[in-house]
Amino acid sequence: MLTCTGFAAQTADSPLEKFTFNRRDVGENDVQIEILFCGVCHSDLHTARNEWRDSVFPVIPGHEIVGRVTSVGSGVTNFKPGDKVGVGCLVDSCQTCASCNEGLEQYCDNGFTLTYNSPEKVIGGRTFGGYSDQIVVDKGFVLRIPEGMDLAATAPLLCAGITTYSPLRHWKAGPGKKVGIIGLGGLGHMGVKLAHAMGAYTVLFTTSPSKVADGKRLGADEVVISKDAEEMAKHANSFDLFIDTVAANHDLSPYFALLKREGTMVQVGAPEHPMPIAAFDLIFKRRNFAGSLIGGIPETQEMLDFCAKHGITSDVEIIPIQKVNEAYERMLKSDVKYRFSIDMASLKTAA
Ligand code: NAP
Ligand code: ZN
Repeated sequence: MLTCTGFAAQTADSPLEKFTFNRRDVGENDVQIEILFCGVCHSDLHTARNEWRDSVFPVIPGHEIVGRVTSVGSGVTNFKPGDKVGVGCLVDSCQTCASCNEGLEQYCDNGFTLTYNSPEKVIGGRTFGGYSDQIVVDKGFVLRIPEGMDLAATAPLLCAGITTYSPLRHWKAGPGKKVGIIGLGGLGHMGVKLAHAMGAYTVLFTTSPSKVADGKRLGADEVVISKDAEEMAKHANSFDLFIDTVAANHDLSPYFALLKREGTMVQVGAPEHPMPIAAFDLIFKRRNFAGSLIGGIPETQEMLDFCAKHGITSDVEIIPIQKVNEAYERMLKSDVKYRFSIDMASLKTAA
């Protein structure tokens, strides 16, 4: 087994601290990766604090991983040492069900393996994520980072990027469509950039007046302060699609009123508690309410290539691992522009 170092939460109310743990040896179809950068997703915080009630401790979060291949198993021909690669939220799936056969591993009928807090199939225990020095991943779940991309700013594409790209593609965001992105955090700022690059008329909804200028700079055609009822009313019955990225419980009703006939509200944010929906918000105008989970491996590669072609990466604040607990507190105050990316070299000097 490989001896690895990372930052773990030992309980739901303890800060993340340095932790030594084991990973499986590199198997025939495995790729061993030295982790260079890892983005900080709000899901990491939800899991470290057991807000979804399914965490098994210790938890090492991190599923926006970019690194360098250090070795490969004998059955791996598509990656070699030195390659720049990424790992997102998934590290395995059944590979036989209808969803896996369509490259939609995130909807695997027999249960996928998440990058952290999932059962580890080879050595038992749980999977441990990217707040660590290295990771061993099946070759089918390793992504290729296009040449020339900034690695720190590319890491967040592996979750925030694909989670917004996938529903934008599925619900056909593009020219002639009016798309609303709700919340300007990690997911939201990628949603704005991607919807704009796809050619949709893009409107950002934010609770933070201080983010208006940034919203426009990132590609929004308009920015609406969601607490301003008058501004909201100007957009009544006009949207084809909403992507709701908000991490906290909030009232959905004001947004339904802005969807046009047969428009769709897609929930990607995953607040701790259920959110009520008024039947009439859907009944009138035959509106749709949907959810969307990250994206499959082929679509994640497609998203990375799309981002390389359009010059898109995440706006990141690079931090050492020692600052991760502080980063969590800042994320809760919506004080991040717009993703923390951990420089994993800092792990070597962490106490
Ligand atoms: P984040 O960076 O913290 O951004 C969330 C944004 O939501 C904030 O920046 C803020 O934007 C808005 N917000 C926060 N509290 C709010 C409140 N009380 N009322 C209204 N708006 C509020 O989080 P993230 O990393 O983008 O993740 C967002 C959510 O998506 C999390 O729940 C995460 O677990 C989930 N997620 C889901 C998937 C999936 O596959 N479906 C994948 C990854 C993450 P403004 O300041 O602009 O209002
Ligand atoms: Zn995530």
